[in-house]
Amino acid sequence: MSMASSAERPELSIVVPVFNEAENLPLLAPRLIATLEPIVASFEVVFVDDGSADATLETIRALNAADPRLRAVALSRNFGKEIAIAAGLEHCRGQAAVIIDADLQHPPEMIARFVELWRQGYENVYGQRIDRSGDSALRRALTQRFYKLFESFGETHLPEGAGDFRLLDRKAIDALATMQERARFSKGLYAWIGFKSIGVPFDVAERAHGQSKFSYRKLTRFALDGLTSFSSLPLQVWTYVGFAISALAVLAALYFLLEYIIKGATTPGFATLIISVMMLSGVQLLSLGVLGSYIGRIFSEVKRRPLYVVGERIGLDASVERRRAPGA
Ligand code: UDP
Ligand code: MG
Repeated sequence: MSMASSAERPELSIVVPVFNEAENLPLLAPRLIATLEPIVASFEVVFVDDGSADATLETIRALNAADPRLRAVALSRNFGKEIAIAAGLEHCRGQAAVIIDADLQHPPEMIARFVELWRQGYENVYGQRIDRSGDSALRRALTQRFYKLFESFGETHLPEGAGDFRLLDRKAIDALATMQERARFSKGLYAWIGFKSIGVPFDVAERAHGQSKFSYRKLTRFALDGLTSFSSLPLQVWTYVGFAISALAVLAALYFLLEYIIKGATTPGFATLIISVMMLSGVQLLSLGVLGSYIGRIFSEVKRRPLYVVGERIGLDASVERRRAPGA
C-alpha cells in the first residue's frame, strides 16, 4: 500500500488535540493504525500540539518519521482544547474526520462503528459516554447541573453524554470552519450545525498516563462560555427582574400612602430603607456584571484576531489551511 502523500486527500482524517501527552501518543498511534488500516482506503492522523511543554513535539516528529500518515500542526502556545480542535479540523483533508482525545479515554476501536454509520449516510456520528466514573463525584455533579441549566436556557439542545469524540462528514467540517467565534463551545456548535446525526454509546476508559488538563477554574470558564455563547437569556432576564421590582415598589408606595392617610405620620422605617437600598444595589451590580460579561465577549470577538497561531507544521503544508477568515 502506498502511503498517502500530503497532497492527496485521504478518506478519513483523525484529529487529536494534544497537550502534554508525550507518554500517551506512542500508545495511541498503533491502536489508531490497527483500527484504521482494515476499514478505510487511506487515512491521516493530524495531531494538534496545543503548546505542550513536555516531549510531545519530539514524539510526534518521531512518529511522523516512521509513518508519514501521522502529521501535526503545532500551535505557538496553549490555546485550549476547543481551539486545538478547530485548528485540527482546518488542517485535515479527509472526506470525514474523527476527533479523539490523546489520553486513550476514547477507545480508538469505536471508530470502526463510526465509519460504518457514516457510510450509511450519517454526517455527525457522536460517541455518547454512558459512564463518567473516571471523573470525580463533584465534577460529575457539576457537569449534570450545567447540562440541566443549558437545557433550561433553551435555544440549542445537546444530546446527553455527547462530547468531542465524534465523526464529522466533510460538509459538517466545512460548516464548523465558517464559525470563527473565539469563545468556542464545540459541543454547542456540533449540535447547532445539525446534519443527520446519531449517537453511539461507549464506556469512557481510564486516562492512560498523566492527569486531566481541566481544572475546576477552566471548567467554570468553559461552562460560562457555553451558556453565554448559546443564550442571551442572562441578559433578558433583567427586564423581568426590573419589572417585578418596580411593581413591588409601586405596591409599597401605595401601602405607605394609605398608612399616612389613615394613621398620619409614623416613625420613618430604617429597616425598610436599608433593605431596599441593599437589595436594589445588589440587583443592579449583578445585572451590570452580566452586561459586562457579554460586552467582554463582544470586545474579544470584534478584535477579529485569528483563532490560533501556527508554530510549525509536520508533514502538512500551509496550503491545507484554506478556510481561514471566511468571507475575506
Ligand atoms: N487538551 C488540549 N489542550 C488543553 C487541554 C487539553 O489539547 O488545553 C487535550 C488533551 O491533551 C486531551 C484532550 O484535550 O487529548 C482531553 O483533555 P483531558 O483528558 O485533560 O480532559 P478530560 O478527559 O479530563 O475531559
Ligand atoms: Mg481525558
